[in-house]
Amino acid sequence: MNSTYITTTIPYVNARPHLGFALELVQADVLARYRRGAGEQVRFQAGTDDNALKNVLAAEAAGVPVQEFVDANAAAFTGLAQPLHLSVDDLIRTSSDPRHAAGVERLWRAVAARGDLYRRHYEGLYCVGCEQFYTAAELKDGRCPEHGTVPDLVSEENWFFRLSRYGDKLRALINDGAIRVEPAERRNEVLALIDSGLHDFSVSRSSERARGWGIPVPDDPGQVIYVWWDALGNYLTALDYAAGGDALNRWWTGAARRVHLLGKGVLRFHAVYWPAILLSAGEAVPTDVVVHGYLTENGRKISKSSGATVDPYDLVATYGTDAVRWWLLREVPKGADADFTVDRLAARANDELANGIGNLVNRVVSLIHRYSEGRVPVASAVAPNTGAPDAAALDAAIGNAPALIAAALDDFDFRRATEAVWRIADEANRYVNRTRPWSLAKAGEKEELAAVLLTLLRACRAIGTLLRPFLPQAASLITEQLIQNGGGFLPAPSPVFPRVG
Ligand SMILES: [Zn+2]
Repeated sequence: MNSTYITTTIPYVNARPHLGFALELVQADVLARYRRGAGEQVRFQAGTDDNALKNVLAAEAAGVPVQEFVDANAAAFTGLAQPLHLSVDDLIRTSSDPRHAAGVERLWRAVAARGDLYRRHYEGLYCVGCEQFYTAAELKDGRCPEHGTVPDLVSEENWFFRLSRYGDKLRALINDGAIRVEPAERRNEVLALIDSGLHDFSVSRSSERARGWGIPVPDDPGQVIYVWWDALGNYLTALDYAAGGDALNRWWTGAARRVHLLGKGVLRFHAVYWPAILLSAGEAVPTDVVVHGYLTENGRKISKSSGATVDPYDLVATYGTDAVRWWLLREVPKGADADFTVDRLAARANDELANGIGNLVNRVVSLIHRYSEGRVPVASAVAPNTGAPDAAALDAAIGNAPALIAAALDDFDFRRATEAVWRIADEANRYVNRTRPWSLAKAGEKEELAAVLLTLLRACRAIGTLLRPFLPQAASLITEQLIQNGGGFLPAPSPVFPRVG
């Protein structure tokens, strides 16, 4: 079955979403749209992690009941689908979706039946920001490497998962590519972690420490299931795992690809803990674990906990969806960190969208109106071998783009993919300047002029088609301007991209 399941992580909702999460959503959306466009069956899944302890702490700090607090913030996350133009198929909320708790419970029972859960007393250093235990060696000067905070010393009896059983199996799956971790440096990081020896880890906490928030451990109501187990479970529970129905077969067990997108800070959860839990439960493992870096703003890390935050709603309201998506796709290197500034966003949007692609389409439609009465030049009137200007570079850019985009997206390299579209616009604008259609018109070179206009029209149509997964709205606007009406005329030219900032 040629179906692909694409997920984003489900963020905890202790604050409003920031631009770093928008990056992950837009990347997932591009993959989903591209594969749907290629005729594949795709399900794009996102949601929110409502059950984290830090949601509870944030609600307490705000003096708001927990459910009310997570409802409000979760709405800000799921609401991003509209301004970011996300073609998301389903959004699961772990505190309120009836599929979720039942599915998490089933996963727990499946792993317990395998003999992989046991109770023991535990003492450890817990970072609430990360919702994970750290060993002293993993801390930096006694502080969490992600948050820079001093972890809490926790001492209690918990349920443990026998991760130690799965190291060899995981190593083999990653080494033979059954679980592909991208980029390669992250794959090496996971292999090094496995080689250092995997230890069983705590998968529950006392209800008291969880403030009674979360999913109770089956048959042990004094314990709540560890929030990461709960959150990772969403990838299955959203497929009706509890009921074991068709969605699970179609999008998980029988899917050709199970693709998880995530930030580098949660790599071990997705490339080690989660596949191990799945192996224990007798379920298929993910095929692709795709890791992105962090965004900074003017050099400061953008994160909910650092206080530096760029609100994607505000950015879209000011600069428009296309400009925001384009910056995220064009400037963030594969798997690496990138620094965001509004100046960079505006420069990209103005240089490449307004002045580059937008100006090209506008110019070509205007030229066709001026020199061809708004009609697409008739191909039979064109004699391509009568000295028509050389279009080799532009033809190559158009011809190579589909394969370049396919290869780049298969490699999860969004910069390289958008570069191939941009290359066409860049070559086409050069081609206009070189061929000077207005001079050809003046000189009465009708056949050459028709050949040039047709070549340019072909370039614009290619851009309209190839841009679809990246900038769906702009792609439609471009394509609409290049379709002849019943009388054979193109619509009057109108700008696709406003200049911003
Ligand atoms: Zn932390």
